[in-house]
Amino acid sequence: MLAFQANFDTHFTAYSSQQVTMQNPIADNITQIRARIRSAEKKFDRIPGIVQLIAVSKTRAANELRKAAQTGIKDFAENYLQEALTKQPALADLHLTWHFIGPIQSNKTADIATHFDWVQSVDRLKIARRLNEQRPQHLTPLNICLQVNISNEKTKSGVSLSELDQLALQISQLPRLKLRGLMAIPAPDQSESALRSDFAEMRKALNKLNDQGFNLDTLSMGMTNDLECAIAEGATMVRIGTAIFGSRD
Ligand SMILES: *Cc1c(COP(=O)(O)O)cnc(C)c1O
Repeated sequence: MLAFQANFDTHFTAYSSQQVTMQNPIADNITQIRARIRSAEKKFDRIPGIVQLIAVSKTRAANELRKAAQTGIKDFAENYLQEALTKQPALADLHLTWHFIGPIQSNKTADIATHFDWVQSVDRLKIARRLNEQRPQHLTPLNICLQVNISNEKTKSGVSLSELDQLALQISQLPRLKLRGLMAIPAPDQSESALRSDFAEMRKALNKLNDQGFNLDTLSMGMTNDLECAIAEGATMVRIGTAIFGSRD
């Protein structure tokens, strides 16, 4: 009986680990994206390991996030509040760091201030003031990136470069927020050189703020299709969805 049991266990273990390699492409994808990040850091003379990988998990189920977390990813970014609020309790045991990266409506700020560690899509003072007032006292200040409309797209959210310094100054005075840096989503379908120049504008904007006395350490730029260009120009965070979880419907 015991011998049979042991034999069964061995057999079962071998079977299930084979299942894991065959059915966890998320782990394989993460290995590949990490290699892409490392080789871009090397190619563009960045400090090895300086670029942090954020998994963009919009539209993905909690169990898919769990598979990504098993490879060591701690930071997840969500675009839609209600969707995030349903997934977060299912993953509470993992103590993940949550980034909000979607458009922010005023009536959502209380939940965002309570259930996220970072908000990367702040582009106006009114929203920042509400997040500041609504950040619960028992939590550390909410980490903030200002979203910059770098390609000057009329339809896109984001503060313009000409209004950035003023907004940064106002937000830096809100005690329950900690201004960490800048975030951008450049216009899609640009040439590599146009992307590089957008990302370079972001780096210059961050440096200019730091020259004025800010202490910003975060440049969040680079997604699945343009992460090399972003790393070339100084990204410290890349936000990757498709290359980790596959294409969204
Ligand atoms: C969806 C999204 C991403 C990830 O884009 P991929 O091309 O899937 O890697 C990154 N940043 C923001 C703000 C997004 O909305």
